[in-house]
Amino acid sequence: MIRLDNLLYAVQPRATRQVVHIPPSWVDRQIGPVVVDSREVTPGSLFVALTGERTDGHLYLPDVVERGAAAALVSPAKLAALAPDWSAVARPWRLIEPSDGSALATVPPEACLFIAVDDPLCALQRAAVYHRRMFTPTVIGITGSVGKTSTKEVVAAVISQRLRTLKSQRSFNSDITLPATLLGLTADHQVAVLEMGMWAAGEIRFLAALARPHIGIVTNVGPSHLERLGSIEAIANAKAELPESLPPDGWCILNADDPRVAAMAKRTPAHVVTYGFAPHADVRAVEVISHGLYGIELTVSYQGEQHHLQTPLIGRHHAYTTLAAIAAALVVGLDWEAIAAGLRDPGERLRLRVVNGQQGVTIIDDTYNAAPLSTIAALEVLAETPGRRIAVLGEMLELGSATEEGHRQVGAAAARTADLLVAVGRQAQTVAAAARAAGMAEAQVIVCADNDAAIDRLRSLIQAGDCLLVKGSRGVQMETIVTALQG
Ligand code: ATP
Ligand code: MG
Repeated sequence: MIRLDNLLYAVQPRATRQVVHIPPSWVDRQIGPVVVDSREVTPGSLFVALTGERTDGHLYLPDVVERGAAAALVSPAKLAALAPDWSAVARPWRLIEPSDGSALATVPPEACLFIAVDDPLCALQRAAVYHRRMFTPTVIGITGSVGKTSTKEVVAAVISQRLRTLKSQRSFNSDITLPATLLGLTADHQVAVLEMGMWAAGEIRFLAALARPHIGIVTNVGPSHLERLGSIEAIANAKAELPESLPPDGWCILNADDPRVAAMAKRTPAHVVTYGFAPHADVRAVEVISHGLYGIELTVSYQGEQHHLQTPLIGRHHAYTTLAAIAAALVVGLDWEAIAAGLRDPGERLRLRVVNGQQGVTIIDDTYNAAPLSTIAALEVLAETPGRRIAVLGEMLELGSATEEGHRQVGAAAARTADLLVAVGRQAQTVAAAARAAGMAEAQVIVCADNDAAIDRLRSLIQAGDCLLVKGSRGVQMETIVTALQG
């Protein structure tokens, strides 16, 4: 939420910014949350009209007005060029210049304000920077190739045991959704936990400039986005922009077991805290016991003391999620009782989901996205389930030159962890060949051209007691398989 007069001030280009005087009837108007999809507009929202590859937010302004948005950041040039269809809209709207608050004197109070800006995205980012500076929460930024959302959720769950915490929703980690999250800050928040993603070099630095984190966490460096960045070193450099952006009195929390992440200790002016299994890690996992679909138990060593903790997060890989959250909690001064309570109840369901399937089978639904690291982690979870284990693996996208190697690694891991492999899609042959090379028999490997073919095969072969893991990249929509086999 942001006050209207602050919003009008903040969206102006800095060099020519003018103080805005607005009529008393408008002064206390609070606007928010920020929305970029017109279908998500609710009364009071601030809509940002963005220009995308496929469509343009300006086309949906009539809908935005109808749904009760309080204001919209719009480009007058785009509005004129795209000429949205106003025929059905009853509610008034008015285009105003942000510097001309006096224009509001003639605007009816129920109107939707269109705030004229050159570039609505840039205006949103300016507003976020301005808003961020009005408050003094401890901001925690989280980046890494895999595990950002999981870590964000668990960090927020733990810290909110003691401190009022704002967190990014879902996977909101971009130059659009991070500023939108920042505009949700209020004086009440003591901590903000923000996911930071990237598509290219320079983006994390930019997000850090918007959010000004005091604490940064880097989970790992893997080949996701290799296609765009070219090399794993380039990916590591891009992730290192978070440690590099921290202040000298800040804290940089690094995964000690990932050499590329551990090396970032040299690139940050901040204090460093490391976590992992490595003997020298500051927050160190001494032992991790997995209870399959019932979560994990860990013994953690910190400053010579051992602490026993439990969490319902599924899979040994979440030892890292847990350790990162513990490190962040310690940095902000939480006690172990609060840490234990937060880990026992990490709140919002994390991606890996267990559903009952037809014919008495259990399905581990991890179809949201996939990379080699997360797929191998999910296969390790499958390995701990009772009954016949079936790995249903779709393509992992965006791996660039690591595509073949990534699929081979996953095929080999499937041979170690599953009784039956159903490889689906364009890389299915690569996955299947690696599984056979790693010891799976011909009869244990099934190759399917697409999701529909996989559904047909699975329907005829599943039996009571089987456990299926379904995983693949967002773009290959493996959830259609889960939906088809759900009980
Ligand atoms: P995105 O880039 O899509 O936002 P993300 O970095 O936010 O991804 P998550 O959503 O937390 O990542 O996790 C993605 C997948 O990786 C999930 O299946 C999760 O269980 C798994 N995962 C999380 N942490 C790890 C880890 N340290 N090692 C391996 N797999 C992990
Ligand atoms: Mg995410």
